[in-house]
Amino acid sequence: MSSPIVRFAPSPTGKLHVGNVRTALINWLFAKGQGGTFVLRIDDTDTERSTQAYEDGLKADLTWLGLVWDDTFNQSKRFGMYDAAADKLRDMGLLYACYETADELDRKRKIALSRGRPPVYDRSALDLSDEDKAKLEAEGRKPHWRFKLSGERVEWTDLVRGPQGIDTSSVSDPVLIREDGSYLYTLPSVVDDIDAKITHVVRGEDHVTNSGAQIEIFKALGGTPPEMAHTPLLVDAEGGAFSKRLGSLSMDTLEARGIFPMAIVSLLAKLGTSDNIEARDDLGVLAKEFDFSKIGRAPAKFDEKDLLALNATLIHTTPFDAVKEQLSAIAPDAANEPFWLAVRENCQTVHDAKDFADIAYGQIEPVIDAEDADFISEANDLLPEGEITAETWKAWTSSLKEKTGRKGRGLFMPLRKALTGQEHGPDMGVLLPLIGRKAVVRRLSKA
Ligand code: GLU
Repeated sequence: MSSPIVRFAPSPTGKLHVGNVRTALINWLFAKGQGGTFVLRIDDTDTERSTQAYEDGLKADLTWLGLVWDDTFNQSKRFGMYDAAADKLRDMGLLYACYETADELDRKRKIALSRGRPPVYDRSALDLSDEDKAKLEAEGRKPHWRFKLSGERVEWTDLVRGPQGIDTSSVSDPVLIREDGSYLYTLPSVVDDIDAKITHVVRGEDHVTNSGAQIEIFKALGGTPPEMAHTPLLVDAEGGAFSKRLGSLSMDTLEARGIFPMAIVSLLAKLGTSDNIEARDDLGVLAKEFDFSKIGRAPAKFDEKDLLALNATLIHTTPFDAVKEQLSAIAPDAANEPFWLAVRENCQTVHDAKDFADIAYGQIEPVIDAEDADFISEANDLLPEGEITAETWKAWTSSLKEKTGRKGRGLFMPLRKALTGQEHGPDMGVLLPLIGRKAVVRRLSKA
């Protein structure tokens, strides 16, 4: 196989969510695993709803995720090409003017349904004479334009779904151009796929039906239809649908929560595949592991718990440099390497480090109950000499246990309360060296 050329084609009418990112990722992994090209096509033919800010945002998100593109272009700069393609289809008799209003079409649909027929457009516009059309236009009506499907069965072998067929007599001729002259996505997409020599169209299975019409448009315009892969959609782990919650899981919310890009792409690359969900710290590895044949037919369940678990795995080996900036913002006093190396094993996200930082470097009000006063003063005496290390807590509490006969909660809780002011919190063995000898002694002496 020659190197694939794929495209990810978002509309800049909102932020990317995990569902879009998965489509982008699958395209990227497939292309890069084969030494191919990843094109970012900005589908901004809807000039009303598309904004530069959303375009900038989605490019920033893809960059943050590491899904760098080899080429990018905007559909809004290519209307001339779409006009030429539309003219060609008109000349071939494959693009015809229709004058029904939305209400009229709705009525036709309802009548068809009530007669037990599929609500397919009846093509009555094909019977209009030039005179009829002139009359309608004189009344102020403007045409919308439909592509005339062949009525035959369109077949392809989908790389995910296997053999597919769309009976084009069972679907309405798609509208390619609206009344106001604006293009729906169908035609520009095909024109661009031909022009960019796209070899594989990889997208969500909500586009399967479009593929029937688009394959016919490819052929009508003299192009060869690319290979197709339609992936099952992402669903919520709880509701089993693409929920509002999933739709609003944007990259900036995840970043703000301390989720690493590699946790996101590790999860999205493996979700709904036969591979285990495991953290990878390199997109190249995910690309090598990618194969369409591993993608199952069932919807892929996106569970935020998996994301957090992958993040935890990654964070345990994340070097200080990689989190320095975030750590400085979250807990300025804690932005040092020894602190990070001590706490990262106990964190799921960088934010968890804040609890450690607050206790180690913040103002703590030690809590020492009257009945523990003697025990705490004993503890002060038994604190091992010298610098406090990762081993100190164990040695210290063992000797205290021996000396006082206390164990379990009675042994540990008074120390935690005296040193942190709280009953719950991070691992004391990790905290102790961070608090440091001076502060430990000071907190224990507050009795
Ligand atoms: N802009 C279209 C979408 O986001 C692209 C679909 C396609 O990949 O062909 O749904």
